[in-house]
Amino acid sequence: MIKTEKILHLKSCRGRKVRVVREHYLREKVPCYSALCQADCENDGKVLPADLTHYVVPDVGVVVDYLEILEFRELQGVVFTQTACQAVQHAKGRRQYNRLRGLLKDPRHDCVLFANEFQEFSYVQRERGESLEEWQTRCVYSAAVWYRNHLAGLMDVVMITEDQETVSRYSSLNSGVYVISVQDFLLNFWPDLQAAHDLYSSISQVLQEKKESENSQKEFSEHLPAEVLEAGIKSGRYIKGALNVSKHRAQSEASITATEGLSEKNKDLSGGVFISGVKNRNRAVHGDVVVVELLPKSEWRGRAMGLSEGQGEEKGGVEENQSQPLPTGRVVGILQRNWRDYVVTFPPRDGSQSQSRNSQRILVVPWDHRIPKIRISTQQADTLQDHRVVVRIDSWEISSLYPNGHSVRVLGRAGELETEVQTILIENCIHVPPFSDAQLREMPPNSPEKPWAMDPDQVAQRRDLRETHLVFSIDPQGCEDVDDTLSVRRIAGGKLLELGVHIADVTHFVREGSLTDLEARSRATTYYLADRRFDMLPAVLSAELCSLLGGVDRYAMSVLWELDSQTLAVTRVWFGRTVIRSSYQLHYELAQALLNGEPVRVPELTALTSEERDAKLAQLTEALETLTHVARHLRAQRDRGGALELEGVEVRAQLDHEKNITALVPRQPLEVHETVAECMIYANHWVALKIQETFPHQTLLRCHPQPRDEFFSQLVESAMAGGFSIDTRTNKALADSLDRAVDPQDPLVNRLLRMMATAAMSEALYFSTGLLSQDQFYHYGLALDRYTHFTSPIRRYADIIVHRLLAAAIAAAEGEEPGKSLAGHKELDEMAQHINNKNRAAKRAQKLSTELFQNLFFKERDPQTDPHCVADAIIYAIRDNGVLAFVPEYGLKAPVYLKNREGQVISVGPDGGCDWQSGSVRRSSDHISTTSTCGSSTFRLFAHITVRISVRSNHFHADSLNLEIISNKPHSSAEPEKPRPQGRSQLVQEVVRLAEEASQQAQEEAARRPRVSREEREYRQSKSPNLYSLLEEVRELALLDLETAAAAAAQVCATTA
Ligand SMILES: [Zn+2]
Repeated sequence: MIKTEKILHLKSCRGRKVRVVREHYLREKVPCYSALCQADCENDGKVLPADLTHYVVPDVGVVVDYLEILEFRELQGVVFTQTACQAVQHAKGRRQYNRLRGLLKDPRHDCVLFANEFQEFSYVQRERGESLEEWQTRCVYSAAVWYRNHLAGLMDVVMITEDQETVSRYSSLNSGVYVISVQDFLLNFWPDLQAAHDLYSSISQVLQEKKESENSQKEFSEHLPAEVLEAGIKSGRYIKGALNVSKHRAQSEASITATEGLSEKNKDLSGGVFISGVKNRNRAVHGDVVVVELLPKSEWRGRAMGLSEGQGEEKGGVEENQSQPLPTGRVVGILQRNWRDYVVTFPPRDGSQSQSRNSQRILVVPWDHRIPKIRISTQQADTLQDHRVVVRIDSWEISSLYPNGHSVRVLGRAGELETEVQTILIENCIHVPPFSDAQLREMPPNSPEKPWAMDPDQVAQRRDLRETHLVFSIDPQGCEDVDDTLSVRRIAGGKLLELGVHIADVTHFVREGSLTDLEARSRATTYYLADRRFDMLPAVLSAELCSLLGGVDRYAMSVLWELDSQTLAVTRVWFGRTVIRSSYQLHYELAQALLNGEPVRVPELTALTSEERDAKLAQLTEALETLTHVARHLRAQRDRGGALELEGVEVRAQLDHEKNITALVPRQPLEVHETVAECMIYANHWVALKIQETFPHQTLLRCHPQPRDEFFSQLVESAMAGGFSIDTRTNKALADSLDRAVDPQDPLVNRLLRMMATAAMSEALYFSTGLLSQDQFYHYGLALDRYTHFTSPIRRYADIIVHRLLAAAIAAAEGEEPGKSLAGHKELDEMAQHINNKNRAAKRAQKLSTELFQNLFFKERDPQTDPHCVADAIIYAIRDNGVLAFVPEYGLKAPVYLKNREGQVISVGPDGGCDWQSGSVRRSSDHISTTSTCGSSTFRLFAHITVRISVRSNHFHADSLNLEIISNKPHSSAEPEKPRPQGRSQLVQEVVRLAEEASQQAQEEAARRPRVSREEREYRQSKSPNLYSLLEEVRELALLDLETAAAAAAQVCATTA
């Protein structure tokens, strides 16, 4: 080992100059991570394959500026040098550096890190008079040459650079080591990877312009250096927090919730700091972690209180009322940029953009209202007008009113179904590419010629329930990923009942750390959109080997309880791996019919003689009855504890054998739903107890915090106005009072109240037990002290973690040391946060896609003539300038304005018809009245009205629906108890049909724009419409389904207060 000294003069990313002296030890042995290694390197971890034509060694400039291109998974054999990685850390900061580290760790990317500066023969000393850049280039080149020699000339090495000088200097020094530009590299080796070519040209353009604009005039003030910011936060002079831009007034209003910097003298800032106007935001973008300085009190501002219809629309020059002045500040520095990929729309080219035609600079408008316009350079401005495109922000120069960015990928024409669906996915950071070949190669073989079979060794290690237990599943019709089954039987001469829940043994097939595991972890859940789903696991698992289908042998994870058959008290619980064969694959309606003693046809029994059939049927019916009996008891137990029944998903999908939605029908509440749900809740609860007892500080549980009291105010007020009293002191009181709040004339009233209760709830969350105290473990909605997710490992990653924990707990109980080290509580906490985030994203995407379908459906119709556009609605809240209404037929909630911008109010004629007249409105707690020259009219809470639905189109953002009152009477054709059941399904079918027609037309045009349709294909995965699994989560979703009501309420609240 040789010791040298390395002296570096570096400029940090914040502009400071630093001199670093490092003792530097050189070694002979530094791993090469190549399968072609000729020198016995200790290559553990990722290894570059041998069967490539070349390895790629990017130089410092390429890694710093073009990392995004190196992120394409198609690129193989990439060697990152230590020199380049350190340069990224200095030039681009921690975030970009972590991104690079992530890339190096991720086995889905074929790249490695070479510690070139520690390798005796690769390292080169910096020479006198040599610039840092020259030396770095020489280091990287030397590393490239080292690879060529170390692998004994078996592999060619290509060094890529953006510096022409480097190309001419090094390209002919060594044979087998090529030095070429990035562009030549892409053209020669990846001529068909169009996305990389496009990305290359947009990044290089941005770099070019950045050089040009460095001397322009300043539009903003300088950000303070990091050490000044940190000292300021410590002393309480500055406040740190994430910037939150207002959705409704994105241009003028933003705020931060202080996370640090609150001292004695400004502790009243716990409500946050208001930031007024774009100048004071000082180039911070929604989501960035910023540092704020308070302005003097004389400059404090209030929030605008006036009415603004629709999101993001701001009319300048209108005198608006303001709230009381709030503590107001300005951004003095940015600690962390949290930029993501943004979907933007290219504006139509008209006169106003003419000055940019020469320079090809375009201001594009992000889909998310809260993100500022982004300036991008492109040569495709004409072809891309009216298209949605993914862009990334590169920088926001002090001299520029807008951030600079570059385009990454074209999604398609704005307004087309595929484009809009991709937009929803990207805006929610949902990345669901098709499963790669490498992932699919991990799957067990299963083909018609060679069907999968159980391994006798496995069977020997498991408890075999195939002969002893009658196992069956109950799911929605058409379900193909069956992850749970049930059994119940009498044992010990009838003294005991044995209840069993058997869950697909997914972790048997998904090994921890495998590619499939990593992909499932990063997805965290299966995503359900209105017309398609994106699976968490490949179909061979989710629909076949892990699906507990009838009549086939399957591995399972089972929980078996022995209950006293009189008292139903638990006498013993057994957890373990099993082998099962489900006898019946029932659906809910069939199971309920059996319970009701109705004559039914059970498919599994059709081939039997009638005697055999009757015997089997009697056995199955008895099992169902016993199960119902047990579930009622369990439910009653939880009810006494205060479990809540909430209104959540209102429709369910009915699917044909090809999984097409044939109808979306309002959910028929069947007792058997409750029975199955209750057994699953019980299993989840007992597994939570088991794993938490074994691993008290490193277990993944799910809690549901008690809601904050003030969130109930709308529910309480509305209920009171309807003559009901709602008690929110405990979950039990809330549940009981909701049960009593029933209007015998109108069942919708109770449903609405439950919806409002749902909206007031906190979110249920996963957490690591090491980080919360025990009293925070409680699940408020289910009234359980311990809860987790165990029963759906096919489509939730949390359940996979829990299965692994349970397996480890079982092993521990048998005296085994946990084989692999379990995740520590920190690591588990990060995982829990990741899954929580992905679940939120999944819910938002689902909601947005439902709204998209609604908008597309109504966009095709003329609201003045089409009967679909007129519907019954019920008023569920009163506001200053209107009401919030719910349209049961379409499951819509939206504001209905009774006073418009021109100051006119709704006036009701003798026949109930409504029109606009000048006048005034008056609001009280349970009604709102309008007065005009034609008289006065009153609208009461829970009254039915007739509304006209139309679309408020928006080229750059999502469309929204507009409800206009046309009569103060219920819609004539509507019978509240029997809403037209096909409303939503027609809607989805209609929109899909139109989109298909449009795509046919587009195909004819395809020759003119082939690239766009190629991009459109990229994201499609499983287009089969499928919503059934929603139903299984009715209760959980209900607890989570906050946004629909809350968003509608916020829209009116924010504009009227
Ligand atoms: Zn080696």
